[in-house]
Amino acid sequence: QARKRFGQNFLHDPGVIERIVRSINPKPDDAIVEIGPGLGALTEEILAVNPRLQVVELDRDLIPVLRTKFFNYPEFRIHEADALSFDFSQLMDDRPLRIVGNLPYNISTPLIFHLLEQSGVVQDMHFMLQKEVVQRLAAVPGDNNYGRLGIMAQYFCRVQPLFEVGPGAFRPAPKVDSAIVRLVPHQTLPHPARDLKTLQAVVRTAFNARRKTLRKALGALVSVAQLQSLGINDGLRPENLSLADYVRIADLLVESGASSAGNDEVSHD
Ligand code: SAM
Repeated sequence: QARKRFGQNFLHDPGVIERIVRSINPKPDDAIVEIGPGLGALTEEILAVNPRLQVVELDRDLIPVLRTKFFNYPEFRIHEADALSFDFSQLMDDRPLRIVGNLPYNISTPLIFHLLEQSGVVQDMHFMLQKEVVQRLAAVPGDNNYGRLGIMAQYFCRVQPLFEVGPGAFRPAPKVDSAIVRLVPHQTLPHPARDLKTLQAVVRTAFNARRKTLRKALGALVSVAQLQSLGINDGLRPENLSLADYVRIADLLVESGASSAGNDEVSHD
């Protein structure tokens, strides 16, 4: 019986499972980590290629099911843990991690933020997500769903939406459409910020008031004169600025000595 509080919708369409595994393209020597293996639909196909697969699963009732099902893979490792607070770097030895999963949709946004912060130990990530979340990850300035998630994902990673999956591929069927996305951490950040926390504070503050002008939305952090010194029109809205613009604002704050500390809770709504 699938459990709602763990966001359990198990994949059962063999065609979809195969297509996901083909996109991941697992190799025998990869260091692959699956988040939320559930009953092991993806796990089984990945293990067939990569017997050193490791999984992180929170639902303790699933652990014995997985152990029994995959008893003939002695190198298979199960970590009974909450992926939201899991330190993935502990799983890395000689090579960066390839993280995959049909993620629990109820926690996917905080989980992605948590994983982005660990991009330094990651080779790539392949996730099944609610379709709207994939659209937010890939959104560009001016899009309706452009915001904090897309900006921070694109700060760390190249975002590549792959394909959509309908509710019928799962049991029970979710109420939403799904999509597969590939995130590949940049080897060199295209727009490195002087201080990540300041960038995060600027983006968070801006999108707390996404329908206001920049002058108002960012008023507590930057002056109109500062925005103008960067050539940024203060009458624009947060959704009009690029990642590069947000980095320039954050860097200006660092240069002018303003600290990000204490701005975390700033909201203008
Ligand atoms: N991968 C399986 C499949 O495709 O059939 C199951 C996917 S289901 C959408 C999400 C899985 O994540 C469930 O197995 C659930 O128990 C697990 N899960 C939920 N919250 C979790 C958390 N915080 N950390 C790790 N796993 C979690």
